[in-house]
Amino acid sequence: MTARAEAARLRLRESADLVEARQAMRRLAEHLGYDRFDQVQLATGASELGRAVMTHGGGELAICFSNGRPARLVIEVHGTDAAAADLELSPEFLAARRLIGGSADDGGRAGGVTLSRLLPSGRRELDTTAIKAVLRRPPADLQAEVAAQSAEIVGLLEELRRRDAELEETNRGVLALYSELDERAEAVRQASDERSRFLSNVTHELRTPLSSILALSRLLQEDPTALTPDHLKQVGYIQKSAQDLYDFVSDLLDLAKVEAGKVEVHPVQFEVADLFGALRGMFRPLAVDPDVNLTFELAKIPSLTTDEGKVAQILRNLVSNGLKFTEHGGVKVSAKYDELADMVVFEVRDTGLGIPEADRERIFEEFVQVGPGQRPSGRGSGLGLPLSRHLAELLGGTLTVNSEVGAGSEFTLRIPPIYRASGPAAGAQVILVVDDDDVSRYVVREHLERAGWRVVEAATGEMALALAREGTAAGIVLDLIMPGMSGFEVLDRLGDDPASSAVPVAIRTSLPVSDIDPRSVDRAVGVFSKDDFSLEPLLNALTGAGRRTVAPGDDRA
Ligand code: ADP
Repeated sequence: MTARAEAARLRLRESADLVEARQAMRRLAEHLGYDRFDQVQLATGASELGRAVMTHGGGELAICFSNGRPARLVIEVHGTDAAAADLELSPEFLAARRLIGGSADDGGRAGGVTLSRLLPSGRRELDTTAIKAVLRRPPADLQAEVAAQSAEIVGLLEELRRRDAELEETNRGVLALYSELDERAEAVRQASDERSRFLSNVTHELRTPLSSILALSRLLQEDPTALTPDHLKQVGYIQKSAQDLYDFVSDLLDLAKVEAGKVEVHPVQFEVADLFGALRGMFRPLAVDPDVNLTFELAKIPSLTTDEGKVAQILRNLVSNGLKFTEHGGVKVSAKYDELADMVVFEVRDTGLGIPEADRERIFEEFVQVGPGQRPSGRGSGLGLPLSRHLAELLGGTLTVNSEVGAGSEFTLRIPPIYRASGPAAGAQVILVVDDDDVSRYVVREHLERAGWRVVEAATGEMALALAREGTAAGIVLDLIMPGMSGFEVLDRLGDDPASSAVPVAIRTSLPVSDIDPRSVDRAVGVFSKDDFSLEPLLNALTGAGRRTVAPGDDRA
């Protein structure tokens, strides 16, 4: 169980107490092994928290340690007149929370006002006597304290500059990696394009003569008097072989197209019941074996809006495999709606040979046909399943198999009921997020990454300009008030530089939007408040910017 041990209390009555609280916290932070940056943050945070307490009638700060894992330094507020909510909404408290860290959810005294921070990992043993001593030391005089604070600020500025430089370096590295990735993706795309161009040329060439053979043998069969019964039989064989070859070549062509991303999805609204009707009709003349029956089962299911032809093609493949590899029993096709996952689940189950565990993934590879000894009559290409899986993925779904040798196989196709174009991930574009406040950058990053974008961060205007010059950013989210170069200036300079003048910039600021002179930001695609809960409008402004339309999955065409 987590518990909190109190080490000392700091009383806050008059302004001199604030100076003392600041110094005490600074000494404590140093004693606990926090680095210089953290020491100043904690000290300033304690003084801000003290000011919050003072403006609410005075009180005490209890310095505690929670023994949770990992252990935390916890500062509790005691003895103020104000309601916790009032205190917690004061600007001084909010500043303290940003500096120290959020409340300690460690099951300590319920309802108390607390702020807390993880203890440094290499800290020394917590010794209450030593800590009390550190906190108790008498305060230095005010002048010395002012001098100490100035020294701290100078040190902090240096530290900040160092961190900025580090961040800039990291950013450059990330950008370099992104562009290398893009290059490699391009090379792979080209190789694969060539392969599929070759395949589709060859298959096209093959299909034409095959169509002629099929047509001619059909003609011959239509005039039986022209042939002896023997010849007629032979023409039948020719036709059957030509048909098999034709099907194979068609599958190959389809596969090449899907792999090259040349297959388009044409979503239409349709009912699964109608699709099942069509499949039943198609297989009726083929399913002549009285030992094997084909049944369909349909649960309550919404109408689908996706590519009906492709769903049909996948199910056709699965059913024909099922019939091919089943000698007794049957093939059952079912569909249901998985509400939780918002997926439609099709199952094609047979009572056939089954597929050995070791082959269950291999059968989805091109040209793989397993179990030569157990293959029933009837040829196949080994292309049906890879093609089906590609199509399933194209529709935003999956195709998987479960099987037991000797008992049967069960293929499961899961697809979203409504097809949605675009998958972000791999080819996602970069958005540059410029803000001196890490929390703001973090919020934007989270949101953008969830929407499929890549994010590069800049903490200063100078860094933003350097990154924008690399030319990788497809959009920029810009803060206005920053130390050093302001967002206004960044915006102007971005506009002056041909490398970035076409990149859409959305302003995200803590200033009241109505206070901003529109002329000062007229180059931006929109001005948004950091108070806005949703980042959607900002994203829409960036993507629909008109200057250069961007989308997370774009290949920068
Ligand atoms: P094809 O059926 O044309 O050979 P597929 O890609 O459709 O090609 O299937 C690949 C292999 O997977 C088949 O050759 C067979 O070995 C195995 N397979 C597919 N479906 C089944 C099934 N329902 N039962 C048993 N084995 C199957």
